[in-house]
Amino acid sequence: MQSTTVNGNHSAGFDNTYIRLQEKFFHHCNPDKVPQPRLICFNNELADHLNLRLQGLSDMDLAGYFSGNMLFADSEPIAMAYAGHQFGSFVPQLGDGRAILLGEIVTLKGKRYDIQLKGSGRTRWSRGGDGKSALGPVIREYIVSEAMHALGVPTTRALAMVTTGEEVLRQTGKLPGGILTRVASGYMRIGTFEYFLARNDLEAIGQLADYAIRRHYPEAARDENPYISFFKQVCDRQAALVAKWMQLGFIHGVMNTDNTSICGETIDYGPCAFMDEYDHNTVFSSIDIHGRYRYGNQGGIILWNLSSLAHCLFHLFDEDEDTSRSLYTPILEHTQVQFLHNWQQGMLKKVGLNKVEEKDIELVENYLDILREQNVDYTLAFRYLADNINRNTLSGRYSALFKRPEELDNWMLQWKKRLLRESASGANIVSLMNRTNPAYIPRNHRVEKAIQQAEKENRFEEIQRFMDVLKNPFSEQPDTAEYMLPPTTEERVLQTFCGT
Ligand code: AMP
Ligand code: MG
Repeated sequence: MQSTTVNGNHSAGFDNTYIRLQEKFFHHCNPDKVPQPRLICFNNELADHLNLRLQGLSDMDLAGYFSGNMLFADSEPIAMAYAGHQFGSFVPQLGDGRAILLGEIVTLKGKRYDIQLKGSGRTRWSRGGDGKSALGPVIREYIVSEAMHALGVPTTRALAMVTTGEEVLRQTGKLPGGILTRVASGYMRIGTFEYFLARNDLEAIGQLADYAIRRHYPEAARDENPYISFFKQVCDRQAALVAKWMQLGFIHGVMNTDNTSICGETIDYGPCAFMDEYDHNTVFSSIDIHGRYRYGNQGGIILWNLSSLAHCLFHLFDEDEDTSRSLYTPILEHTQVQFLHNWQQGMLKKVGLNKVEEKDIELVENYLDILREQNVDYTLAFRYLADNINRNTLSGRYSALFKRPEELDNWMLQWKKRLLRESASGANIVSLMNRTNPAYIPRNHRVEKAIQQAEKENRFEEIQRFMDVLKNPFSEQPDTAEYMLPPTTEERVLQTFCGT
């Protein structure tokens, strides 16, 4: 449908900078109009934080603006250009095929964010797609991204969700359509740089890097080699991010370079999911046939993606090829070590240890082995572990997670011995564990349940209830067992689809 979007007379307070770059970085395009926009979720808390000027707007107005039927007077909508390695193969032209950047907003503390509609119609980069989103994946992204934020993981956030009143055609048939408004510190991806490398436009790569430094890494500008400093900081943020995913059992599902953010946030929630039973080889994504993006492979993949970024910035590091290589290679090596370090630190906290001793990581690995052998729920195996600290026998709910709890005897003995040394130094172990191990994660079967209710019954209470629980993932709340417990055999979701 051609855009018949109308310009509203309301300004959101945008302050746009990406659009001041040359036009080769983006394409102007308006969202499509949809027949019946209805606001089903709006994140007031985030809107306030962003300093968006929405005062005086009714729900109907908000549905208009966040479906793309109306444009804020100061919106300058664009789709951004990018390429990417998808499952290891390079695609020179991807770009925002179903996302439109409405504008940038600066918070009262001076932090800049991008506000984007996802699912609002075709752009220059839609290729064969319709530019739309089905409601299901919009709900999944809304719930999971907000849950990730509450869990303390850097992520894009969800501002609004609307149903469109139109149907979209997907492999499984006709589905109700939806539009998500999402917010990021920035939407530049590794693939944004790759787009220009594929065109041998080295000048554009320099301009992009300068923009990214100004916006996301201003301190790098003061370094002797700002581009090396920029690269190193992207590596640091990604090594921290993916280690955090691992700690929580999160599987991104499509870690292509076009889904790897320059500012270090989790972006593009497609067929993502949290693991229930612990297994390094867990894959949910229906399109990840070879398990490239399986749970335990994410640390290796992020390094692979960062090497692609190094390849793009190669000429900026130094004009001389050997010097350039000698500058970035140690950074990649360090990132590998740093990722492992972050992972170890995170895992040690999960068993209540802050001060690291030599054999500690072995203790964690032995525990993970037991979980894998007995198909134990990853999240609860850590959450309930703290129950046992001041007891001689295992707590009932903990013990019930295991098929053969007696096989824990030796491990428990070792762990408690180690905890004695930790608590001797005054550490509050239970508090550390409860701050580290969530009681609630957005379990796939519960996300699916919320989606089913919305799709089949046009009701959205389950989304709201679920999100209320997920807001405080580290404190156990009354009457919420259904959100805390793993799926029964019938409830299990084995695959998630990115059919957006
Ligand atoms: P993603 O799976 O979200 O990483 O998307 C990969 C690429 O496909 C991006 O360039 C998207 O913009 C594009 N894309 C995905 N779904 C659609 C769609 N329904 N219409 C147009 N482009 C799409
Ligand atoms: Mg993507």
